[in-house]
Amino acid sequence: MTTEAHLREQIALFGRMLYQRGLSFGSTGNISARLDDGWLLTPTNSCLGLLDPARIAKLDDDDNHVAGDKPSKEAFLHRGMYDVRPQARAVVHLHSPNAVAISCLDGLNPDDVLPPITPYPVMKVGPLKLIPYYRPGDAALGDAVRAVAARHKAVLLANHGPVVSGKSLEDAVYTSEEIEEASRLTLMLHDRRVRALTDAEIEDLERTFGPA
Ligand code: ZN
Repeated sequence: MTTEAHLREQIALFGRMLYQRGLSFGSTGNISARLDDGWLLTPTNSCLGLLDPARIAKLDDDDNHVAGDKPSKEAFLHRGMYDVRPQARAVVHLHSPNAVAISCLDGLNPDDVLPPITPYPVMKVGPLKLIPYYRPGDAALGDAVRAVAARHKAVLLANHGPVVSGKSLEDAVYTSEEIEEASRLTLMLHDRRVRALTDAEIEDLERTFGPA
């Protein structure tokens, strides 16, 4: 199987998993992966639970649509990540409910939205940057992602949802799940006294496991 055929299968497989676990619903969310001669992106108005690998859109390096169905209208979110993160091989954007709920809260720390309550988000996600609200489809959103993504593997779009890059498709999917789970725990604990990890504990994680 070619790399492209394999990635098409993998995007459909992970799309179905994210859909079945409730991290995507209706036709929300999109997944992309880089190829040597362009990139793959899930089609506009497609359901991540019902993707046909052969119909996933292919774009060339200049973002011209060259194969498959019409690509997602949120292509510019993915492009914003790829432009400044050469190490990124895949991007996942979801409207996953717990992360979206966090993205609607007032008074968030825009440089790191989620408090460090367990080690895994620190290890896998790093600081989750908040991007201010823009109307869906506004291309300025792509520029806003591009402006910060060199320093952030993942960002959270205010009142919208996360955009997550990964060194592989698996990495981008697992990091998206980590953000959703950390968001769920943060919401569960919102009115409780929480012992967050200390700066020394976070430094120890970064020293031991490397940056996210
Ligand atoms: Zn979206």
